[in-house]
Formats: sequence, structure tokens, C-alpha cells
Amino acid sequence: MSRIAYVNGRYVPHRSAMVHIEDRGYQYADAVYEVCEVSDGALVDMTRHLDRLDRSLRELRIRPPMSRGALATVLHRTVALNRVRDGFVYLQVSRGVARRDHFLPDPALPPAVVVTARSVDRAAAERTARKGIAVVTVPDNRWGRPDIKTVQLLPNTLAKQVAKEAGASEAWFVDASGHVTEGGSTNAWIVTKDGRLVTRQADSSILRGITRTGVMDLVKRRNLLVEERAFTVEEALGAAEAFVTSASNPVTPVVRINGNMIGDGSPGPVALALRAAFHEVTELSRPVNHGK
Ligand code: PMP
Repeated sequence: MSRIAYVNGRYVPHRSAMVHIEDRGYQYADAVYEVCEVSDGALVDMTRHLDRLDRSLRELRIRPPMSRGALATVLHRTVALNRVRDGFVYLQVSRGVARRDHFLPDPALPPAVVVTARSVDRAAAERTARKGIAVVTVPDNRWGRPDIKTVQLLPNTLAKQVAKEAGASEAWFVDASGHVTEGGSTNAWIVTKDGRLVTRQADSSILRGITRTGVMDLVKRRNLLVEERAFTVEEALGAAEAFVTSASNPVTPVVRINGNMIGDGSPGPVALALRAAFHEVTELSRPVNHGK
């Protein structure tokens, strides 16, 4: 089956899906994005993803490209056209196409929108979670606003490459005071030896992950103790458990940090329980049936 992408109002074959060379996303990373999990054909926590998209757009003064209802329709349609049951849908909004100039273009410029969808191998993701992953730490050299979900991901890709070359799957960024901010494409969590969950406060130093918020809901529902605060690499090394969260693989246990075993070196019970229960607290959104 051939893949289909949505590009600026049209559904086109993925292999010939193109954006203009003067798209501001291409020239300046002047674009924001969202990745939303698809589970059994439904979009997971779409409302929260679209809320975060609105916030990112507002922070960068990019016009909303279309109404929320229209955007939801495009997301669902792209998922359906690509026959994705389990996977994710990717949405990118750039400031639009304008002659290259650092100054922002006319605010009336229409934003450019791209949507793609892809299936994932759930069984492989499950196997990874059962084994747990290794992470390495790297200095956080990103700009001052990682809370905005921009496509400016060069530090993240380079950090993840460092991880890969060290035999790990994720890099944890560490700030100037030695505290973990977040992963290259995940939020970072630890479980202390006395059973408290710790994840960094969602200020401007990290992306407020939608999965992070979902796990918070779950944690509250189960009356687990959670602290939103910074933790050092040293504290993580002494933790009972560690894990990462992201929409593309909700809760993934971490079993090694910089080559050191966490806990007994196998996925912890808290992380595995949160992973198993994650979809209990999420919103599932399906296309609106217009009676056709
Ligand atoms: N932090 C970063 C830097 C990310 O790229 C991601 C994934 N988009 C996350 C955290 C997790 O966010 P979410 O749970 O919304 O996928």
C-alpha cells in the first residue's frame, strides 16, 4: 500500500510530497509540530496535543492554520488513508513560504501544514519495554525555550546519535547545575527507593509531554506520591527505577544510565505497571461520523 501525506490542502503520494524551498520551516526551523499516538485507529489525547499546538503557535506568533475541527479531520483522514491502526500521526505547522528574510513575514501569510501517519510494530516496542533501555547523559546545549515544540531538533538528534554510538537508545540532557532536564525525545522520570516518583517541573527548561501529563493523571488516580522537581544524575544512579515517557512509546523502563545499572538492571514494577495502565486515563478520539 502506498503512503499518503497531507501537504497544504492536498492528499498526495508520500514519495512526491514536497514543500517549497523558501518554507520558513526549512530555512529557519520556524515551525512547530506534534506527534500523536494512534491506538486501535483512535488518536490518543488529541485534545491535549491540539492545546499544546495552540500554545506553541501562540508563543511563536504563528497564525493557527485552520480551525481545530478541520485539523482533527485532516489528522483522522491521514490516519485512515494510511490504514494506521497502531502507530502515530505527525503534524507540522510552519510560518509559511516567504522570501528568505530574518524579519517575520506579513502576519497574514498562510501557515504551511504537513501531516503524515505511520504504523509501528507494537510487538517490537513491547519487547524493548520488557528489556528496558540504556541512556547516556549529555550537556543540555539547547536554546532557552524547549517548552515550545519547535522542529529545531539538531541538539536532540546529535545527542541521540551520541547515545546510539554508546550502545544506548536515549540521551538525557543535563543542565549547568548537574540536573537532568529531559531526554532527546522523551521526558525523564525516576522512582526513589522509598517509592516516590520524580520528574522535572514543567517550566521553560523542558517540553511538557502529553504522556507526562497522562502519567501524572494515572499516578494521582493510584494515590502514588509524585514530586515535580529537578534531580541530579547521581540521584538517578541511586534510584530504584527510571523510565522515559513519550507519545510514540508511552512508558519505557530505563535499566542503565552511563553504563551503570539502575536497581537490579531489569525494568521496575512501577514503570511496568504505569505502562500497562497508561491507556486507562487517555482520551481516545475517532473521526466524527456524519451519518454518511
Ligand atoms: N521531550 C522532548 C524533547 C520530546 O521531543 C518529546 C516527544 N515529542 C517529549 C519530551 C515527550 O512528549 P510527548 O509525551 O508529548 O510525546
